[in-house]
Amino acid sequence: MPGFELFGEEEKKEVNDVLETGILMRYGFDGLRNGHFKAKEFEQKFSEVMGTEYAQLTSSGTSALTVALASAGIGAGDEVILPTFTFVASFESVLALGAVPILADVDETLGLNAKAVEKRISIKTKAIMPVHMCGSIVHLEPLRELAKKHNLLLIEDACQAIGGTYQGKKVGSYGDIGCFSFDFVKTITCGEGGALITNNQTFAENADKYQDHGHDHIGNDRGAETHPFLGYNYRISELHAAVGLGQLKKFNQILEKQKLNYSILAEELSKITEVSLTHTPKEAEPNYSFLNFFLPTEEQTKKVAHHLKAEGVEACFYWYANNWHYYKYWEHLKEQKTLGKLPQEVREQLQDFDKEDFSLSDEWLSRNISTLVKVSWTEEEMKQRAQKIAKAIKAAL
Ligand SMILES: *Cc1c(COP(=O)(O)O)cnc(C)c1O
Repeated sequence: MPGFELFGEEEKKEVNDVLETGILMRYGFDGLRNGHFKAKEFEQKFSEVMGTEYAQLTSSGTSALTVALASAGIGAGDEVILPTFTFVASFESVLALGAVPILADVDETLGLNAKAVEKRISIKTKAIMPVHMCGSIVHLEPLRELAKKHNLLLIEDACQAIGGTYQGKKVGSYGDIGCFSFDFVKTITCGEGGALITNNQTFAENADKYQDHGHDHIGNDRGAETHPFLGYNYRISELHAAVGLGQLKKFNQILEKQKLNYSILAEELSKITEVSLTHTPKEAEPNYSFLNFFLPTEEQTKKVAHHLKAEGVEACFYWYANNWHYYKYWEHLKEQKTLGKLPQEVREQLQDFDKEDFSLSDEWLSRNISTLVKVSWTEEEMKQRAQKIAKAIKAAL
């Protein structure tokens, strides 16, 4: 996930435009900005690229998720179903609203399994939040059918798969709302930043207000604006938006290079019969930011992870034993370790992790290894990497 690898003239130009005016905020000061509205321009271009009516930038991917949920009316005690394999931001964004994250199993797509989700639906469930992890694509159609049947929202976390597609649509644009991160290690970066996309006018208008203290953004006197409802400050700065605007110009180039580098590794691994790649649903295309594969047994996978480390092959991840991305290591969530008191609804409704069964997730994650695909690697470097990875696998079989 390599936007920062290509940092250069485009970003500098956009940032300089802003620095020259000195207006680092996205709202107000219209007379002083020399016509530059970088956040606004980024939103327009981003919604075009994603094929949605609306895009709303925010200060981070985590806040994009929170703003998305808030804009759709999710609040205290509402349950949001998320995968056991994701970044911690998924449940943080839910908890920020006093809502309750409910975990459900992932499958061979590394994403939410619809049957597993159905078992977790309660009278309090309001949304399903699939996460496209490591460039892979969740099988969304069964989730949408489930959402329809139970009158739930489908909110996609596409932070790690930006540019991937599902049934001809960009991921993030399939659900009711889709969220992205532009943090430093994502496919395109603002330094810090995020966005949500939607075709729902009400959600878009709510998001516009909510991320800026509930401001109605009517007229050009910010001090005189009204506040139809309570909001928060989840705004992006004009400087960060400018960086992202520069990065957006390289988006296709990044995706193409990722695909090329991915295919070099995929070809090498296809020669090893014991290796199978993460399942990509029919009519879907990953964004190729990672190549993820399964081995036949947990034992073998552990050995491969060990060999990769010993051989110094960088950026290979055995998430099953990683404290950031898998439920097994979310002690702070499981033990409800917070600085202040959690809302009563959250305390009462959170799952009892000693009793829950996530063996389907364990079955897939214990046999999965994810390898990063950088854009700065040359074909030659990628070939060498592919050979090293293949060697580590063969040594463990
Ligand atoms: C990066 C990421 C986020 C959060 O993004 P930040 O911009 O770092 O807050 C959320 N979900 C997933 C899956 C991510 O990878």
